[in-house]
Amino acid sequence: TRVAMEVAPIRSENNMTALPSDDEFNELINSCVHCQLCENTCPTNLPISDAFRLAEEGDMSGLVDLHDPCVGCGKCETVCPKDIPILNTIEKSSQQAIREEKGKIRVGRGQISDPEIREEGVNLVLGTTPGIVAMVGCSNYAEGTQDIYKIADEMLQRNYIVVVSGCAAMDLGMYKNKDGETLYEKYPGKFTKGNLLNVGSCVSNSHIASTAIKVAAIFAQRKISGNYEEVADYIMNRIGATGLAWGAYSQKASAIASGCNRLGIPVIVGPHGSKYRRALIGRPYAEDKWNVYDARNGDVIPIASVPEFLLTTAGTVEEVMPMIAKNCIRPSDNNMGRMIKLTHYIELSKKYLGVLPEDWHNFVRSEQDLPLAKRDELLNILEKEHGWEIDWDKKKIISGPSMKFDVSVQPTNLERLCKGQEV
Ligand code: SF4
Ligand code: SF4
Repeated sequence: TRVAMEVAPIRSENNMTALPSDDEFNELINSCVHCQLCENTCPTNLPISDAFRLAEEGDMSGLVDLHDPCVGCGKCETVCPKDIPILNTIEKSSQQAIREEKGKIRVGRGQISDPEIREEGVNLVLGTTPGIVAMVGCSNYAEGTQDIYKIADEMLQRNYIVVVSGCAAMDLGMYKNKDGETLYEKYPGKFTKGNLLNVGSCVSNSHIASTAIKVAAIFAQRKISGNYEEVADYIMNRIGATGLAWGAYSQKASAIASGCNRLGIPVIVGPHGSKYRRALIGRPYAEDKWNVYDARNGDVIPIASVPEFLLTTAGTVEEVMPMIAKNCIRPSDNNMGRMIKLTHYIELSKKYLGVLPEDWHNFVRSEQDLPLAKRDELLNILEKEHGWEIDWDKKKIISGPSMKFDVSVQPTNLERLCKGQEV
């Protein structure tokens, strides 16, 4: 109450009191001179001037359409030569839409249970479930709520497990497809491929991290107390999980992302997240740096550049889709798993960027890693463009890949975990 009372006069002084009356609203709309200074400063380039032009003619749809993508930063108001409280005009015109806003959300389920992890964990480690996409963080997406709907729907159709929390979980419940369905109505909520799970509030992000920790504990008997390094080593090399904080990136979301990074889980942030000017990116072109130990014998073995980063930014939904698929690839993938993940990486790149990814061949260890439906086409490219040797009678790769596939390999970054090195 004390804060509200202190803030009230400041709000009043800055003309931030109530929404304008109908008369004031009309006056404000007609005072716009369409200089577009507001648009130039808007971080999401919203067509404010056009929306005012429509409103002058009595059509409020332009202003109503700004309500969802507007991040409420108020920058536009600071440059308007007519001192129009632009945010208030957007809110005023959207009052009915706001009143009628209703969504459906699956109840926050809390932790993923051990029996569920026992059932699904092996598919994650071998790669036959292509990955977990954890969509977390704050709202205010670059192109509005449809952004995260699009990403989640695409990944769910491709059998990724999509785990959501907090604002991202609520926003998904607000957006409906053309049949009036939310994704919660379209996809079931178990911890298995192609399912959409809401773990709960933003604080429940810990349940997502703890799921990865539990996989390490259950499948590799990693001690989970005082053993962060070994747990993170297991997660980074074996569990195809990627975090996505697509909306505005609060300090809390930043801290959550850092927590995931410490556990070996890569995180992609949306265009607003780039303002933190923080990135943890690898050098995929330095091929000789991408090695792990094989815990069976301590041999150093080459791997593909996966995950390529621990923290980075994507600018558009189109860019982020193949990035997610690529960063769910892990050294421990078996042939079937790698084939499934590579199929999604290639298909998403072609669908959203219109091109074959330039590094797809770096993830191929044998012909069995190639997407089945495109095997001939891709073998041909490997031969013609990358100089790989192909036995066309057997449709086998004779030479070319920098790494070999071994079904029993136990990738680790920790030499002490190798046989004979135990301390
Ligand atoms: S800055 Fe103000 S006057 Fe200029 S286009 Fe935007 S709302 Fe209109
Ligand atoms: S308040 Fe909304 S419209 Fe104004 S600059 Fe920020 S995002 Fe753009």
